[in-house]
Amino acid sequence: MKAVAKTKRESGLEVIETDPDKFNDDQVLLRMRSASICGSDLGFYNYTPAYQKFAKIPVIMGHEFAGEIARVGKNVKDFAEGDRVSSESILYCGKCRACRIGLTNICQNFTVFGMHRNGGFAEDVALDPKYLHRIPNEVSFSEAGVVEPLSVIVNALEDVGAKIAAGEKACVIGPGPLGLFSAEILRVKGVKDILILGIGIDEFRLGIARDKLGYHTINTEETNPAEMASSMTDGYGFDTVIVTAGAPAALRSAIPIVSKGGQIIVVGIFADEVPLLASDLVRKQVSMRGSYASNWKHYEEAITLLKNKMVRADDVITHQFDLSGADEAFQMAKAKTGCKVQFKN
Ligand SMILES: [Zn+2]
Ligand SMILES: [Zn+2]
Repeated sequence: MKAVAKTKRESGLEVIETDPDKFNDDQVLLRMRSASICGSDLGFYNYTPAYQKFAKIPVIMGHEFAGEIARVGKNVKDFAEGDRVSSESILYCGKCRACRIGLTNICQNFTVFGMHRNGGFAEDVALDPKYLHRIPNEVSFSEAGVVEPLSVIVNALEDVGAKIAAGEKACVIGPGPLGLFSAEILRVKGVKDILILGIGIDEFRLGIARDKLGYHTINTEETNPAEMASSMTDGYGFDTVIVTAGAPAALRSAIPIVSKGGQIIVVGIFADEVPLLASDLVRKQVSMRGSYASNWKHYEEAITLLKNKMVRADDVITHQFDLSGADEAFQMAKAKTGCKVQFKN
């Protein structure tokens, strides 16, 4: 089968021909139909320090994927050939304290598809059924390929962040797929005034946010967001600021625009340490929390949001490539001339 793999401890990837993934009696073999490139895949592609220690090489990449069950191990009772499913991205132990209190996303012994174990940028992938979620017919395979990133935002805005009330105001820093999904879920929660911040390289993505999804946007390299933030919030600042970009400047810019008593939720992964205006954080009594990945219920809720057409995923998914076009797909994702870039099969 064809697969997109990380084979060398350096920047880049390789499209390989390899044996079909072996599956045991307790597993299913998934025929991939859609698999999305994530920001972390770009970090792994570039082989930045954060991934040099984290990942295992060689490995087939990809942790955001969905498809159809092609074969079923003989001990598997819950799934049948032809079932449409999406996979979770984190492999968890089920035994540690975090797992036992339901936080499988921050399992003490977690590993990730496409980094520690072969992932979804392949024609087929063997999976334990416990990581699978059923995809209803109302949800396309393309949409099913973004259940994982959508679930990450469901976790961040529902379980990690403090309750968000209708009529509140929010700012999203970073207009990538996670940022646009953040805005969509904030809108579903009744947040009316949503500002999305990006920089020059985000032009294409800011265009989607503004022209297709109807949000206020600012390129912070051209315009200081302070004035817009103030006029949108009567000078009070945003109740919620979610930081999806992994740039230090993105996180630093959250503190001046969050309201007194407001919350900052951080989803981006940072290559460097970030110096912060800590005294402003204290004097404004701002709560700041990190949010990582997602667990079972967040996937189920993400699927429900897609099924009920509450989130406009089709505007966020802009390009699809065959596995053989992996180089072009990654170049596009890196240059941000696409928003969510997917593989199809
Ligand atoms: Zn991801
Ligand atoms: Zn665990």
